[in-house]
Order: sequence, then C-alpha cells, then structure tokens
Amino acid sequence: RSKDEGRKRFSYFTPEMQETANINRQLTQELRLAIVDHDFKVLYQPIMCLKTGEVHKAEALIRWHHPELGTISPAEFIPLAERCGAIIDIGNWIFSTAAKQVQHWQQTLDPDFQISINKSPAQFQNPDPSADSRWIDALTHLGLNKGICLEITEGLLLDDGSIIHQRLQKFQAAGFEISLDDFGTGYSSLSYLTKFDINFLKIDRAFVSDLENSLQNQALCEAIIVMSHKLGLKVIAEGVETSNQLNFLKLAECDYAQGYYISRPITAEEFERQLKSPTPFNLNQ
Ligand code: C2E
Ligand code: MG
Ligand code: MG
Ligand code: MG
Repeated sequence: RSKDEGRKRFSYFTPEMQETANINRQLTQELRLAIVDHDFKVLYQPIMCLKTGEVHKAEALIRWHHPELGTISPAEFIPLAERCGAIIDIGNWIFSTAAKQVQHWQQTLDPDFQISINKSPAQFQNPDPSADSRWIDALTHLGLNKGICLEITEGLLLDDGSIIHQRLQKFQAAGFEISLDDFGTGYSSLSYLTKFDINFLKIDRAFVSDLENSLQNQALCEAIIVMSHKLGLKVIAEGVETSNQLNFLKLAECDYAQGYYISRPITAEEFERQLKSPTPFNLNQ
C-alpha cells in the first residue's frame, strides 16, 4: 500500500541520499585542507552608489575550486563548514584576504574603499574569547578605518541580544561597519533595527526580483527604504538583474545596488581592470 511505501521511503536512505551523505562527509574532511592547498578564492561583487553611479564598495564572496569536483558553491559548503567548525579558520582566512585587498585598493584606487564580508552566526560562536580582538587588532594595525563591513543576518540578533550587542559595538568602535544581510527573509523583527546600531540594511533579492511587475514588491522596497532612512540606515538592494529594477530603486532613493545587472562577482584583477576602464562595469551596454 502506498502508505507503507511512503514509510519505507522515508525511513531508509535512498541511494541518492547515501551518495549525498558520502560526498558531504568527504567534503567536510577536505574543507580544512582547502585553505592550505589554496583551493579557496575570493571574488568581489561591486556595490554601486545610486546617487553617483560610482563603486566604492564590494562584497567578498568565497569560491571553492575543488581539484576533482570543480567549483563548489558556498551555499553548499558553508553549512558543512559551520557544522564541523572549519568555518572559523575559513572565516579568518577570508578576513585577512579581504583586509589585505582593501588596504591595497584604499592606497591605489580610493581611500574610502570598503569590502563587506559575510559573518554567519556560527562564526560568532567561536569558543576562543580572543577571536574578536584578533580581527579588531588586525584592522587597527592595518589602519583600515571603515575598510571592512561585516554582513550579519537577522538570526544572529535573535538570541542573546545583549552579548551580541556588546560585541558588535566593539567591532564598530574599532572602525568596522555592520550590514544586515538578506533583510526580510528571516524572523524579521523591526525592534532590533533600533536596538542595534546597524549601518546598512540589505534588501533581500526576493523583494528585488520581479520589481518591475510586482506591486507588492514595489510597496515593500519603497517602505523599507523610507523606514531605513528615517532610522538613519543606508539601504543596499541585492540581486538587481535588470535596468528597470535599477531605475525603480534609483527613483525610490535607494542608496546602493548590487547584482548581475551591474556585475557578477569577479576576481580582484578583473575588478581593478573594470574600475580603471572608461566604462566601469559596462553599465551602459
Ligand atoms: P549573500 O551574502 O546574500 O550573497 C549574495 C549572493 O547572491 C551571492 O551568492 C551572489 O553571487 C548572489 N548574487 C549577487 N547578485 C545576484 C543577482 O543579480 N542574481 C542572483 N540570482 N544572485 C545574485 P554566492 O556567492 O553563491 O553566495 C551565497 C551565500 O553564501 C551568500 O549569500 C552568503 O550567505 C554565503 N557566503 C558566501 N561567501 C561567504 C563567506 O565568505 N563567508 C560566509 N560566512 N558566508 C559566505
Ligand atoms: Mg552577503
Ligand atoms: Mg545577501
Ligand atoms: Mg542572500
């Protein structure tokens, strides 16, 4: 009977599930080696100022070039790294890579250049109490005031509000800025927008896609932008894929935009080449 079949299906690993589990186990073992073997790369996606059309910011996004499996998406391996604890080392590696990069770009391109890095809740659970101060000392040592922005998610602000609050304040006092990533998709509570001193709010791609057709998404984006400005936050729209979306956001006085329409995530070399070209990021094509 179909009920029994259903029960069977769910109580045993199917061959595909077994294979996924095996691959995940293999990947988990290889995560730590990947740092040593230089199999991680950081790509940078430009974040454009909508008032001026200039790019002074970029988000650092990690890529894993696996020797046999090819490029593996962070959506796939970051959760594994979080579960096995490798996220701490990986996060430290991304931070030092991005810090060196932003120091170079501040010296050669723009003294106010800023790179955003994603810091997941698991990275805030580092048992090492000196973990925060290592990042803070490094930023101070490199003289990178406002050079690094930490992208956090709503989930982090949910639990243990006061301790997280203090830690974020320490980062900010040392010259980090804070972005609230993927806004609107988590357990959105508006109260933490006033409780925490957040610098940027990133409207999630879900509200930006289909902006040209969806009256609901238009209403949500406009309202988020107005609310953020009244609270003193700057707004970044993510996942901008069309000129219509970009124009809507400009008219709604959104501060920044990021997305494939402006540029996909690219290597540091390509980023420099684009910024120095007469038509950066080919926006007029
Ligand atoms: P996120 O922080 O929300 O990053 C934005 C994601 O959207 C990136 O995917 C980016 O490539 C993609 N994206 C940007 N513009 C567009 C667009 O116009 N259309 C579409 N469809 N997608 C766009 P990516 O690089 O695959 O990263 C996925 C997620 O993995 C990130 O989401 C972030 O949560 C996590 N992640 C990436 N790098 C790191 C990292 O270094 N550390 C940590 N902890 N997490 C990371
Ligand atoms: Mg992000
Ligand atoms: Mg995001
Ligand atoms: Mg996202």
